[in-house]
Amino acid sequence: MQEIYDDIRNDFRYDHELNGCLNCGVCTATCPAAHFYDFSPREIVQLLWTENVEQIYDAMQEKIWACAQCMTCAARCPFKNSPGGLIAIMREVSIKHGMQSAKDVLRPFGRVMLKLITTGNQLSPDMIQPDHFPDWGPNIQKVEGDLKVLRKAIPVRTLQTTETAWEVSLKTSVEMYTIWEMTGVMDALQIVDENLFDVIEDFIDEKREDYSDWLEAQEDQKKDD
Ligand code: SF4
Ligand code: SF4
Repeated sequence: MQEIYDDIRNDFRYDHELNGCLNCGVCTATCPAAHFYDFSPREIVQLLWTENVEQIYDAMQEKIWACAQCMTCAARCPFKNSPGGLIAIMREVSIKHGMQSAKDVLRPFGRVMLKLITTGNQLSPDMIQPDHFPDWGPNIQKVEGDLKVLRKAIPVRTLQTTETAWEVSLKTSVEMYTIWEMTGVMDALQIVDENLFDVIEDFIDEKREDYSDWLEAQEDQKKDD
């Protein structure tokens, strides 16, 4: 617990996001998540301000995941605190420490992560399936028909595919992988979902090979010219 708290406290953003706390509750009054969940940004800030290590750890089990990261709290706090920014730090630390709460919360986003990394698109038509959106109720039946036909009916340029929303070039894809690797996104993914990480790594290796073949072909072409 102490190690987790130290990682939060030593984050380079921490002192910028927390300047003191009046316990006034303005952040909670304007927080959309506080209206729907047992969650209060004021409470989180108070726990951090009073360095209550045990309760900070408890809050990381569930409460911090209710935040929508809208940053309304940061715009309203008279102390210029950013409760949402502090929660972002706590979430990153919980991932770094492989906390079960982080794994549970992030698991449903595995499909989106796979799609994003393999195609450069966050969402594509073929992901909108009744099994994946039970919360849509009967409305989901409206997209259960022939997706390809529905897609063709859209008048804008859609690549006529259901697997992606737009095309991302090989060069851009490889650059994105490099950014994700260098900024620690891939390390975080490995901690929260080892299987998904393996699938994505294989995919990245293949794309990098394709890219180096393409570069080689370009060089050969130049020599021939
Ligand atoms: S974080 Fe800011 S708005 Fe929230 S209770 Fe503390 S002083 Fe008030
Ligand atoms: S960033 Fe989080 S804590 Fe702040 S107002 Fe938005 S939902 Fe609430």
